Amino acid sequence: MRDVVILGSTGSIGTQALDVIRPRRDQFRVAGLSAGGGNLDLLAEQALEFVPDAIAVPTEEAAAELRRRLGADTPKLWVDGNDRLAASPCDVVLNAITGAAGLTPTLAALAAGRTLALANKESLVIGGRLVMDAAAPGQLVAVDSEHSAFAQALRAGRRSEVRRLILTASGGPFRGRTRAELTDVTPEQAMAHPSWSMGRVITINSSTLVNKGLELLEAGLLYGVDLDDITVVVHPTSDVHSMVEFADGATIAQASPPDMRLPIALGLTWPDRLPDAAASYDWSKPHDWHFEPLDTEAFGAVELARRCGKAGGTAPAVFNAANEVCVDAFCDRRLGFLGIVDTVERVVAEHLASGHVGDEGMSVEAVLAADAWARERASALTGGVAP
Ligand code: NDP
Repeated sequence: MRDVVILGSTGSIGTQALDVIRPRRDQFRVAGLSAGGGNLDLLAEQALEFVPDAIAVPTEEAAAELRRRLGADTPKLWVDGNDRLAASPCDVVLNAITGAAGLTPTLAALAAGRTLALANKESLVIGGRLVMDAAAPGQLVAVDSEHSAFAQALRAGRRSEVRRLILTASGGPFRGRTRAELTDVTPEQAMAHPSWSMGRVITINSSTLVNKGLELLEAGLLYGVDLDDITVVVHPTSDVHSMVEFADGATIAQASPPDMRLPIALGLTWPDRLPDAAASYDWSKPHDWHFEPLDTEAFGAVELARRCGKAGGTAPAVFNAANEVCVDAFCDRRLGFLGIVDTVERVVAEHLASGHVGDEGMSVEAVLAADAWARERASALTGGVAP
C-alpha cells in the first residue's frame, strides 16, 4: 500500500492522479489533498470519496466553506497548509499545483525526505540549484511526460554515454504559422491544444512554446545535461514523448498514446511500472510519426529560456513570473499573443541589467523577491493590477 499526498488535487493532473488511484484502492491510499479553493465542490467530493487524513486550502474562507459542506466528515483542515501537507508522513507527494506557488511545497517535501513526484515544473525551474541541492538521489521523480520519457530512456545507457537529449514539442495549435501570422490569435484559439487537455496556464504556455522553454530548463536541471546539448524537435502528435541520443549514435525514444495517466502512474510507483496504467498502441492500424525542426523565429520562447538558464540564479524565476502575468493579460485581452514572449523578454533583459542574483547568491528569499519584482514589472507593462 502506498500513501499518497496530492497537492493541486482538483486540477488536470490532480484529477488524473485520482483516476489512476480510484480503481486501485488496494494499492494506494490518499493521505492528503490540497487545492487552491477555486473548485470547492470538487474538493468536497474528493474528500468524501477518498477520505484523506488532512486537507489544505489557502484561506480561512475556503476552510469554513469546506467544513460547511463536509460537516461531520471533515478531516484535519489546514489553512495555508501546503508545506505542512507536503512534509507529512506518506510514501509519495505529487506536487500538481500550478505556477510558482509550488516552490515552497516542493522544498518542504524534499526537506522532510518524501519522494516527490513533480508535475509542478515551475518550482524546479525557478528554484533551480536550490531544489536540486535539496534532493537526494532518486528523491525527485519527474511527472512531465517528456521528463518521464527521459528517465525511462536514460535507463538504456550510462550517463557518460549520453550525447544529447531530444525534447519533443507538439508545436501547439499555431504550428506552421509565421510570426506575422501570430499577431491576431485569440485566447480561445490558444486554448485549443491539438493533443493534450490541460490546465489554462500550461495550455497557453504550450501555444507560445514557453512551456517547452520551462521544460528545457527542467531537463537540464534534472538530468545534469548542458542546455546546449538539449535539442527541441517538433512532433505534432505527441506520440514520442522525448528521446535520448547516446554517444554511439543510437537514439532511444519513449512512445505511448498521449495520456498523462502513464507518467503520473510512473511518478507514483517509480522505479516500478503500474500494470495497465494507460492504453498502448493498436499496431493493426497505420501510424505516421512526423518530426520537424522548431521555428525559433516565430516561437522565441525556447531560446529565451535557454538564455535565462545559462544566466542561472534568479533569471528563470523572472522568466516564469513575468510569463504568468502575461498569460493573464492575454486571457483578459490586455495583451496580444506576441506580446506575451516579447514582454517576458523585456522584463528578463531589465532584470539581467540590474537586480540579477547568480547561482552563488541563490536563496528562497532571492527567488521570491525576483518573482515579485517580475510580476510587478510585467503588470506595469501590460496594464494590469500589480499582484
Ligand atoms: P490546473 O490549473 O488544472 O490545476 C492546478 C491545481 O492547483 C488546481 O487543483 C488548483 O486548485 C491548485 N492550486 C492553485 N493554487 C494553489 C495553492 N496555492 N495551493 C494549493 N493548490 C493550488 O493545472 P494542471 O493540472 O494542468 O497543471 C499542474 C502542474 O502540472 C503545472 O505545473 C503544469 O505545468 C504541470 N503539468 C501539467 C500537465 C497537464 O497535462 N495538465 C502536463 C505536465 C505538467 P483550484 O483550481 O481548486 O483552485
